[in-house]
Amino acid sequence: MLIFLTDNLLETTPEYSESRLMACLENLLIAHFEGKHILIAKPKTLSNYQRESKLSERAKAALAKIKQFVRKNGLDIKTEFLFYVQIVAASQSEITISVNEQHTIVNMPIGYFEDSSATQKTIILGEHINDAEFFLHLVRAYITTKKALKTAQIKIQAKPTHGGGSSISDIFQALCKDKTFCLCLVDTDCKVPGTKFGNTAKNLGLNQNKQQEWQNSCHFLSNGFIRIEKNSALSKAFAINVHEIENLIPTVLIENSSPKTMNNQFFDKIDVLKKWERNKTKEWRKFIDIKNGLRCYDIKTHKYWANFIQTVLQEKQDCNECHKRTECEMIFWVGLGDKILSQVVEYMAKTTSPKIAEFFDFNKNDNSLVELTNELLTWCCASERIRH
Ligand SMILES: [Zn+2]
Repeated sequence: MLIFLTDNLLETTPEYSESRLMACLENLLIAHFEGKHILIAKPKTLSNYQRESKLSERAKAALAKIKQFVRKNGLDIKTEFLFYVQIVAASQSEITISVNEQHTIVNMPIGYFEDSSATQKTIILGEHINDAEFFLHLVRAYITTKKALKTAQIKIQAKPTHGGGSSISDIFQALCKDKTFCLCLVDTDCKVPGTKFGNTAKNLGLNQNKQQEWQNSCHFLSNGFIRIEKNSALSKAFAINVHEIENLIPTVLIENSSPKTMNNQFFDKIDVLKKWERNKTKEWRKFIDIKNGLRCYDIKTHKYWANFIQTVLQEKQDCNECHKRTECEMIFWVGLGDKILSQVVEYMAKTTSPKIAEFFDFNKNDNSLVELTNELLTWCCASERIRH
């Protein structure tokens, strides 16, 4: 996370003495030192904090590095992220989020950071561990395509965590009792665009009209601010606008990640996808069931897929009565099975980020991918660890 320090953080309140505030500032600076988040501040603010004799050597080393960073990259680096955290005086008791056209700013009182759990790496919570790992490889690839981030040597740091399917909302709530920043990502399970979200996303309070939400008793105020109650972690649930994570993976990446020992039939199935992709629209690729394929039953239950099949096959196809998907014998495309994601994650782990970036359309028109990578970048950005 990008964290901006304001200049009145050591103003005491009846609740927060100077030494308590100093401990909070120390924790924040150590997060920068250890490369868990990025801190920035105006040079003058940094000079003031550098004069505080009670800060540790490591905290002072962090202040010096932050000064260099700000001198080189400017405070405008903030514009590279969807939002940033602004640390404000302890007299503000709650987290508030101000949203306007230019910026979203999350104002967090410094008292939040008294416990070092508040300054650990952001938690990326996915439905399965492969999802969370995939997101991190994805955003590491993404930053290699952004000049300003490369120049600033922005790193990605997060702790991938998972909570399978139905239990993810329970795990999310449990994690939020701690103060570590947490981004929870789920897919929509929508079989066609624009339909109701599946239960996993629904249990997190997400739907077509609300694809992401700050968590923990967040209140929308009439002045456009969002207020999060005291003692809540900064956390957000986010639905990726695809059927499943597999839909985010470009076909060529699936092909490259598949062991060469896979039989020809498997690669034939990939060729079908490639052929269909030469079709003019790409939206279907986000919603087709990559694991289980497409059957006549699907086109009978969803007009969207009936239209799709008509455009790719150019002839009318129908099967005899089938009442269940599993009974349907007319298979248009058999699907790639459920090992795709684990193979892709394994491949990404041993491939360089710039090489992975070549597979993705980061700067093109894929909104689902752009939204996801920007969200991930904002939560996971970090400085380089200081060796001191
Ligand atoms: Zn059928």
